[in-house]
Amino acid sequence: MSRRRGGPGRRAVAVSALVALVGCVVSLGVGALLRRAEQTGGARQMDRHTAAAAAAVQAETRRYVDTLRTAAAAVGAQQELTATEYATLTAPLHQLRLAGATSIVLVVPATDGEVSRVQRTWRDRGATDLTLTPRGTGQHAFSVLAASLNGGAGQTGLDLMQAAAPAAALAESRRSGQVAVSDTYQLLVDRDLAPERRQNSFVLTAPIYQGVGQSFLGWLLLGIHGQDFMGGTLRAAGTELADLRLEADEPGGRVVTVAAIHGTTGHRPDLQRAATIPVADSLWTLRLSAARRDLPGGRTALPAAVAGGGVCLTALLTVLVWVLATGRERAQARVESATAELVAEQTEAGRQARMVQAVLDSISDGVAVVGPDGRFLMDNPAARAILGRAEAPAGEPETWQQHFGLYLPDGVTPFPAEELPLVRALAGESADFVEMMVCNATYPDGRVISVSARPIDTARGRRGAVAVFHDITERKRVETELRGFAGVVAHDLKAPLTLVSAYAELATEALDELAGSVAGDALDRARRGTAKVLHGAGRMQRLINELLDYTAARDATLRLERVSLRALVDDVVITRTDAPEHEPHSRPDVFVGPLPDVHADPVLLRQVIDNLIGNAIKYTPPGQAARIDVTARTGEDGGVRVRIADRGIGIPDGEHAAVFDSFHRASNGTAHPGTGLGLAICRRIVERHGGHIDASPNPGGGTIFSFTLPGAAGAGSEQVTRVRKTMTAD
Ligand code: ADP
Repeated sequence: MSRRRGGPGRRAVAVSALVALVGCVVSLGVGALLRRAEQTGGARQMDRHTAAAAAAVQAETRRYVDTLRTAAAAVGAQQELTATEYATLTAPLHQLRLAGATSIVLVVPATDGEVSRVQRTWRDRGATDLTLTPRGTGQHAFSVLAASLNGGAGQTGLDLMQAAAPAAALAESRRSGQVAVSDTYQLLVDRDLAPERRQNSFVLTAPIYQGVGQSFLGWLLLGIHGQDFMGGTLRAAGTELADLRLEADEPGGRVVTVAAIHGTTGHRPDLQRAATIPVADSLWTLRLSAARRDLPGGRTALPAAVAGGGVCLTALLTVLVWVLATGRERAQARVESATAELVAEQTEAGRQARMVQAVLDSISDGVAVVGPDGRFLMDNPAARAILGRAEAPAGEPETWQQHFGLYLPDGVTPFPAEELPLVRALAGESADFVEMMVCNATYPDGRVISVSARPIDTARGRRGAVAVFHDITERKRVETELRGFAGVVAHDLKAPLTLVSAYAELATEALDELAGSVAGDALDRARRGTAKVLHGAGRMQRLINELLDYTAARDATLRLERVSLRALVDDVVITRTDAPEHEPHSRPDVFVGPLPDVHADPVLLRQVIDNLIGNAIKYTPPGQAARIDVTARTGEDGGVRVRIADRGIGIPDGEHAAVFDSFHRASNGTAHPGTGLGLAICRRIVERHGGHIDASPNPGGGTIFSFTLPGAAGAGSEQVTRVRKTMTAD
């Protein structure tokens, strides 16, 4: 079995592991592919940004160069340029919105000897306050006319040869006849600004040729702040996501930053690009760096989410596969364990059944079980032996009487089917110790049996019944013999006892007469002796009478008739209360309520009433008048409940049931004369009438005896009464 379990278990592990592996590989692979696609997309985005920025810068610088070249041509076309004309010529440049352009300046060359002449000439031409300030000796290049493009004051009179960068650009443009760009430097006009406001700047210079002979007049010089130039140009190109740096190569291999602009996101850049831009006669480098995640589609959470989600789904799938793969195995294990339990239970049930059968087979009591339909489901050998039939009846309960030969204890009346204990148990009623006679082929002389039956639940909650049979033939025979013996003894003892009493009375009378003439101890002892003999004989007579009553209560044939309970009670009360032993002050006070007629044996019923009223009077403290209430109530079933309540000494707790046993005397009543048989007789008589008697404490002191009798209306129920008698007789 374990080997069989090991196979599917390993398969489940292998399949689940495969699912987990494939799921993880696919999820992570897809995540990686997405990441790769994002990286490629980010690089493309970066390339696009770089191209756009480079194109913008290049287009702008070309526009500046063209503008400067055009302006230089326009200036060169003037015969004799004046300050006013210069202002007019440069005015349109304001509309061109040249970002970063500070001023456009007319620069003329002069040697040391020409300085004052040049100054005078341009003062004459309108630059009235021009003062040339030569620096060093040799060649000079003075700004003589200036037009501001950023709102500042254009400064003139400066010697541009003093700064290497513009001097080189001027020389280059004069040499080449083209626009030249200077290296970066800080404009001479910015030298007075605070250091933090100064910017790396550069100038574009264009040579000016005049007249037909194209004589060299000087230069037009456009000063540009690098930072402002870049800002204006690149903002228009929409590259605010990246860091931008415009660099120029300087002589000596130095790289100088013309301008730098930082992107707005603040993320650490991880993508770099560079583009070379020709600016006039130089090559500049535009460097871009950006964070991949800032670029549209450059880096998103999608790959991680896809990979994570895939791994989660894989985990779920793996669990599902595991559950499914092991489900059959677990189901099989459950089936196996349930089967094992079932087999064990079956074995145990079989063992118990065999044990019960063995017990049933070996006991001497008969046991039989019938189903809801009255079919015999089981009976043991003792039952078959007691009933004298080997086979169970095949038919309905109505056939049982004939099948087994069941009769009432009189041996002649067939037992009524509806009163059979098993039939009553099938109806839900318990039946105890029902006596009946079995008279059939096995027992032609009849056997007396006692049957008790109880309802039981058979299969699926349906009611069946179980009965236990005892063969009490022998016990009955012994009882009858004993009863006969007791009756004979009691009866035969009466005559000699009467003689003893009579002679004891005679002896008493004789001793009384002697007492008048003779005195002495011997006579006194003899008188006490005869008194004791009389007393003992009296007690013995009462005992014998009650023993005979007891026997009669059981054996006498019931003569049931309609009896006036009222008349019977009145008669007993008169007899008992008029007794001479009652002093007038202690005469019993008896209240008799309305009493219905009953269906009873008048002689036996009188004995019951007499015993109970007699006890009520007897068990009242001496010197106290007994108080007795006799009442009755007719119940819904037509039965009559008679109540005799007294205010006497009462019965101690726990003894109210025992006082009905033969010879039982309550612990507090022994001072009163009695035999302990009176209530036993009452119970026998009441039960023979199909009733029940009990005693209970009377609230406030005393005892209540109550018993039931069939009402006069139930005169037809004689047979039932007889049956009940067989049930309850002991
Ligand atoms: P007894 O001959 O002793 O009266 P009974 O059978 O009539 O015998 O009564 C049994 C016992 O029950 C009595 O001995 C007495 O102790 C008690 N008993 C019976 N009737 C009463 C009663 N009315 N009040 C108190 N005790 C009673």
